[in-house]
Amino acid sequence: MSNRTRIIFKRDSESSVGRGAVIYHAHFRPEIATIIYWAAFYAPSELGEEMWITEGWRDIRDKRDLHKECRAFDIDCMRINAESYSLKFLIAQGWASCLADELGSDYQVILHGGEKALHLHVELDP
Ligand SMILES: [Zn+2]
Repeated sequence: MSNRTRIIFKRDSESSVGRGAVIYHAHFRPEIATIIYWAAFYAPSELGEEMWITEGWRDIRDKRDLHKECRAFDIDCMRINAESYSLKFLIAQGWASCLADELGSDYQVILHGGEKALHLHVELDP
């Protein structure tokens, strides 16, 4: 088993909004933790051996949000080292596609956030 990718949970002090990834024990349910397992497994080398989890739990009331149910993670793509945004996006897209294939249809892998906050949102929503 590879140990090339270090998994980092963003801390409050590293966040522009003062709140890093809020992680609870519920995030380590096997069907949720598997998201991180496979995301790290397929992490592109351009990430420089670090995969950052930027969001776990959050409380949003105006719409259904699986972060609130501890069933989703956001995984940073901004740290993908690429010459341009479009290349960064392509690398992230490849990562998303491998991860989606591996996790299967009970999971959703969404690449979004644009040039300032590109990330993978991955959730269990059977
Ligand atoms: Zn998200």
